[in-house]
Amino acid sequence: RIVYVNGAFVAEAEATISVFDRGFLMADGVYEVTSVLDGRLVDFAGHMARLERSLAELEMAAPAGREELESIHRELLARNGVTEGLVYMQVTRGAADRDFLYPDGAAPSLVLFTQSKPLIDTPAAARGLKVIVLDDIRWGRRDIKTVQLLAPSMAKMAAKAAGKDDAWMVEDGFVTEGTSNNAYIVTRDGAIVTRDLSHSILHGITRAAVLRLAREAQMRIEERPFTIAEAQDAAEAFVTSASSFVQPVVEIDGTALGDGTPGPVARRLREIYVSEALKSAV
Ligand code: PLP
Repeated sequence: RIVYVNGAFVAEAEATISVFDRGFLMADGVYEVTSVLDGRLVDFAGHMARLERSLAELEMAAPAGREELESIHRELLARNGVTEGLVYMQVTRGAADRDFLYPDGAAPSLVLFTQSKPLIDTPAAARGLKVIVLDDIRWGRRDIKTVQLLAPSMAKMAAKAAGKDDAWMVEDGFVTEGTSNNAYIVTRDGAIVTRDLSHSILHGITRAAVLRLAREAQMRIEERPFTIAEAQDAAEAFVTSASSFVQPVVEIDGTALGDGTPGPVARRLREIYVSEALKSAV
C-alpha cells in the first residue's frame, strides 16, 4: 500500500514521522475519514469544511489548501486502485520540543492512507447493530475531530467483551452518540430524533446529509437529546457515519427494538443516502 506523508507518496514501510510529533506525544492532531464509492469521494466538501473548522478551533495551521488536499486524495486512490473504501487524512501540529504550549512555527504533519473495503453490502447493515450503554467519559470538545480516541476504543472493547457491536454513550441522562457514529431513534409516531449540535457531539457529515435527505422526503425530524429509556421504547434506531452510512440498531442494552430486525425508516434512509452518495460523489 502506498501512503502519503508530508509531501511524498511512499510505500507504507518507508513512511516515517518524528517521535517529537505532537500528534504522537499529545494527540495534538485532527483527522477526517472520507468514504469512496466507484472510486469517487463522498461528501468531500463537507469533510474539508469540518477539517478547516477543527484546525481553526485548535489554532493549528492548515498543511495545504483544499485543492491540493483533494488532489492528494485522488492520487492516493489511483495509486492504490481503491474503488470502494475509505481515505483517512490526519493533520497534526507537527514536531517540536515537548511542551504543553503550542510551539511557534512548527510545520504541520500531513498523513493520508486508504483502506479498500466493501461499504454498501455489509453484514452489519443487513443484520443491525446491538449496542451496550456506557457513561460518556470523553472530553468536552467532541465537536473537534481530534485523534484522542482512547475512550471510544475502550468503549468498543467493552462492547466486544459483552458480545455486542458498539456502545451508545450517555451524559447527564441523555445519549450523546455512538463510539464512532451519530445516534438516532424513530419514535412510535414516526419522528426521527437525534441530539442537537453542540460541543457534546461530533457534527457528523453523514448526519447533515441524512437529515437533509429525510427532510426532502417529508420525514419529521426533532433535533433534541433523548434518554436510553426513550430509545428502548422507540420503534427503531440507527446510527450514521462516513464509514457505515446508515446502520440500523436492533438492540439497546439488552432490549430488542420492535421485532429485533432493522426497521423500515433506517432501511429506507440507507437506500436514499447510498443512491444520493453514488450520484453526488466527486
Ligand atoms: N461521532 C463520532 C464520535 C465519530 O467518530 C464519527 C465518525 O467517525 C461520527 C460521529 C460520524 O461523523 P461522520 O458522519 O462525519 O463520519
